[in-house]
Amino acid sequence: MKVGCPKEIKPQEFRVGLTPDAVLELVLHGHQVVIQTGAGDGSGFPDADYVAAGAQILPDAAAVYGEAELIVKVKEPQPDELALLRQDQILFAYLHLAPAPELTQGLLKAGTTSIAYETVTDSRGALPLLAPMSEVAGRLAPQVGSWTLQKANGGAGVLLGGVPGVSPGEVLIIGGGVVGAAAARVAVGMGATVTVLDRSLTRLSYLDDLFMGRLTTQFATKAALAQRLTQADLVIGAVLVPGAAAPKLVSRAQLSTMKPGSALVDVAIDQGGCFETSRPTTHHDPIYEVDGILHYCVGNMPGAVARTSTRALGNATLPFVLALADKGWRQAVTDDPNLRAGLATHGGTLTSPPVGEALGLAS
Ligand code: NAD
Repeated sequence: MKVGCPKEIKPQEFRVGLTPDAVLELVLHGHQVVIQTGAGDGSGFPDADYVAAGAQILPDAAAVYGEAELIVKVKEPQPDELALLRQDQILFAYLHLAPAPELTQGLLKAGTTSIAYETVTDSRGALPLLAPMSEVAGRLAPQVGSWTLQKANGGAGVLLGGVPGVSPGEVLIIGGGVVGAAAARVAVGMGATVTVLDRSLTRLSYLDDLFMGRLTTQFATKAALAQRLTQADLVIGAVLVPGAAAPKLVSRAQLSTMKPGSALVDVAIDQGGCFETSRPTTHHDPIYEVDGILHYCVGNMPGAVARTSTRALGNATLPFVLALADKGWRQAVTDDPNLRAGLATHGGTLTSPPVGEALGLAS
């Protein structure tokens, strides 16, 4: 099969759908790969690395879309890209169609067979193509939070690790899932005093075992949260209610109970945010202040570390990319119900019931 990878055009998106290592795997499986010139630049992969792996470099997106039977990319197609998609083409990417009626209609009009990274499942029902980005965002959260706490950024001037004779900072993590556990790992490594709140006792039990006394777990009641907020230097919002907007767990009124200059990092901002005062920010202008509390609410945190993120995403997508290229989409989704869970559109028909429900369309 001919597999194509265009350069991402969504603003501030530096990841790329295929790494040179993935290209080599495809070539070894007997496939041809075409890459748009410069596609890997943002992730530190020059064209020469792709050529060395056996890919052909094409001058623009139109050439890649024109030649490829399978398009592998990161973000959902932008309007210019929708215009290039064809009925006989497979698209494998993050799509997030439920809140995007225009994009959904565009894919239906193109007739493309589209498979959404974010709804591909694994044998435990988890989302293996979302997890690597949660790992990245979680590990970044204490890093950006500690930077936010620096005086020059308006923070209280607290060093999370403390120093001999001075207590470490207090990090409160709300939600102990993939993001929360990854954040805990880094915050503990920095030497901070860490508490994780969650409503899942199974999850708290897992974290308790994993960290062997290096952090405190607490059931996430309103009272527990209110009390912990008064002590925290850094609060990391990492909750997820699948299929729903993030619950607003910290009200504006509660900000006045916090220590001035402390910081909120709302990782759940891509689901609307879990603090009442959260609003999406960008890597260029990530922080704002409300009532003396700093907010960091970047919706695409993994973009800040595109090289790591591209590799992490590529590791997770590669088995599915190979299956699609080796078998064709129909056989691949027939053989693998987890990949079938990602099938979003085919031949002008919506094939994802949750997206149909969200948009009021037949599926
Ligand atoms: P996850 O499902 O692994 O974990 C979510 C956790 O939240 C679960 O353990 C759940 O029990 C807990 N939870 C739910 N409601 C709660 C409540 N009221 N109080 C306390 N805990 C509660 O999800 P994840 O992969 O860790 O993702 C967390 C959030 O981070 C999601 O909103 C995800 O979209 C977001 N995310 C954002 C970025 C970014 O760049 N901003 C990147 C990756 C993930």
